[in-house]
Amino acid sequence: MKTLDLRSDTITRPTEAMWAVMHKAEVGDDVYAEDLLTNQLESLAAEILGKEDALFCPSGTQSNLTALLTHCQRGDEYIVGQQAHTYKYEGGGAAVFGSIQPQPLNVQEDGTFDLAEVESYIKEDDFHFARTKLFCLENTHAGLALPMDYLQACHKLARSRNLLLHLDGARLFNAARKWDVAASQIAALFDSVSICLSKGLGAPVGSLLCGNKDFISEARRWRKVLGGGMRQTGVLAAAGIYAIENNIERLSEDQHNAEALARGLQDIAEVRVNYHDNQTNMLFLSLPQKQLKELHVFLRQRGIIIPDGTQVRVVTHLEIDRRDADFIVETFKTFFSRPH
Ligand SMILES: *Cc1c(COP(=O)(O)O)cnc(C)c1O
Repeated sequence: MKTLDLRSDTITRPTEAMWAVMHKAEVGDDVYAEDLLTNQLESLAAEILGKEDALFCPSGTQSNLTALLTHCQRGDEYIVGQQAHTYKYEGGGAAVFGSIQPQPLNVQEDGTFDLAEVESYIKEDDFHFARTKLFCLENTHAGLALPMDYLQACHKLARSRNLLLHLDGARLFNAARKWDVAASQIAALFDSVSICLSKGLGAPVGSLLCGNKDFISEARRWRKVLGGGMRQTGVLAAAGIYAIENNIERLSEDQHNAEALARGLQDIAEVRVNYHDNQTNMLFLSLPQKQLKELHVFLRQRGIIIPDGTQVRVVTHLEIDRRDADFIVETFKTFFSRPH
């Protein structure tokens, strides 16, 4: 029986073809800049995002933290979403390691900030205040692809108020596929961009921080400080190159499958589906508390794994194809049509 794990797009395992390139990888010591595949991966990522340079990091958390430490000094501040990974899900790293103060703000239903509110939180140059230095966006945010004109407005605001702009683009390629734009069109609006290879792209490990040469050179120092200087990374870089070359275009399949799930599950009276127009490979479900335990067992027996709780996130990825999506919908329908 195939396992259909819908908890996250991080759960994907390397395919045979990806294992093969990892197995054959020639390696060197990346701290000496002698791992040629890692150099190649960094050039490839920089080129795709239209940036001068890139830095391979073991995780998106480290890549974001490296960006924050590189952009900001002690006593600086970054504006960030209340639910953003760089604020909520990274252990407060910017404050812990960088003495950088977060200014978290709520985002609206569609994942965007109210830019007038953002502007009102940019602090005047006054020694009472932390220095507002950086504006951090996340795209996609909760699976929502942020509108291009909104990103342009953020860029304009940042430039007019002298702020740097960082994008946590863990799933940037999902957003780019959604709007059918090049990832570089989105990246062009930011001073730095972090992308993950280990989400929808299907690599086992790795993120890339991209920016201009000076920024990446300074970031390389901070990555080392954070313990992210790795050695024979070619095995991972080979997987990353494979992921970029083979798994970007296919992200539209994940979006179609998420849409199919949303459409199918919507028919079930007991399930509430939250799926916006600008959603990519995620949907959110409200499930009835009463049948929850039973539902989990029923799904598990059929190989389907969803997160615990009544409010759950469901994520499509390269181990879920269209037939699987249809099977998942049918399984939910079967469960809720039984007498309870
Ligand atoms: C997954 C993710 C990251 C990075 O997570 P790691 O597990 O550290 O690689 C960063 N931002 C967002 C929005 C993410 O979803």
